[in-house]
Amino acid sequence: MVRFLRPGSLAEACAMRAEQPDAVPLAGGTDLLVQLNLRRERPAALLDLSGVAELAEWSREGDGFRIGAGVPFTRIVGEIGEQVPALAAAARTIGSAQIRNRGTLGGNLGTASPAGDALPPLVATGGEVELVSVRGRRTVSVEEFCTGPKTSLLAPDELVAEVRVPVRRGPQHFAKVGPRNAMVIAVAAVATAVDAPGRAVRVAFGAAGPRPARARSAEEFAAAALDWDRGPVDPGVAARFGALVAESCAPIDDVRATAAYRRRAVAVLAARSLTWTWNEYRRDMCA
Ligand SMILES: Cc1cc2nc3c(=O)[nH]c(=O)nc-3n(C[C@H](O)[C@H](O)[C@H](O)COP(=O)(O)OP(=O)(O)OC[C@H]3O[C@@H](n4cnc5c(N)ncnc54)[C@H](O)[C@@H]3O)c2cc1C
Repeated sequence: MVRFLRPGSLAEACAMRAEQPDAVPLAGGTDLLVQLNLRRERPAALLDLSGVAELAEWSREGDGFRIGAGVPFTRIVGEIGEQVPALAAAARTIGSAQIRNRGTLGGNLGTASPAGDALPPLVATGGEVELVSVRGRRTVSVEEFCTGPKTSLLAPDELVAEVRVPVRRGPQHFAKVGPRNAMVIAVAAVATAVDAPGRAVRVAFGAAGPRPARARSAEEFAAAALDWDRGPVDPGVAARFGALVAESCAPIDDVRATAAYRRRAVAVLAARSLTWTWNEYRRDMCA
């Protein structure tokens, strides 16, 4: 029989997690309940986080947003989507309306799938995760948090408390490829963020390596090759940018796609994303 724990506060949730490390956190359940239904996981206990009000809140703080781990994707899109456009664009592609109503950022991080759609935008925009336990709080970058396929820095007694996302400093974009246009796990994904004041472009890929990661060689190339005085992006620059992002990937062959297809998809998505974000940057600057 599975024990069902229902904390009413974050402090209580941390205490329960410390006392019963075999209790698996449950947020929206859109990943975990699938695993339970398929009998891939048999937890001794479930730690239901739906009654923890602190996890279901977001707030603006300085130059960023603190988004509680339990805020579902629908609310991210509807309530702060314009200020965190890459994350919102990714959230819009997650599952169906029902999945987006239940699924949370904390769950996407907890699963730490290389194909988790919220992860490339968080990596590209410099998102950070705050982890909490009875031992205290610590903050790590989302890029560091994901350590490999479905593995992360989350300790057995820790919970994801919130994600900190900087307010946009320029246009952002997210694109993914899959066998159809909706309800699909990404075969390849790319998030791009222009930092206009910093004259930099940040880019991260998903589903094309063991974990989401930035392509730093492509970022350095873009910073030097783009005409920051609002010149158009040269198609050759976009293609080279895409090629550099693809070189940074470490995709595998699996049931959904070959490594070669994923690498090609990343190159195309990255080149297009750079062109789209750059054109938007030029329009913003001219407005
Ligand atoms: C039909 C369908 C379509 C889907 N489509 C997509 C898609 O397009 N893109 C995509 O990225 N995902 C997709 N998913 C997967 C899923 O919806 C997302 O990963 C979602 O973000 C999971 O959030 P959740 O709140 O439901 O997590 P849950 O299922 O409740 O938990 C997931 C994992 O995270 C852990 N966890 C949850 N909250 C915390 C916390 N606060 N602290 C520590 N650990 C925690 C849980 O223990 C569990 O291991 C889909 C799922 C389904 C069923």
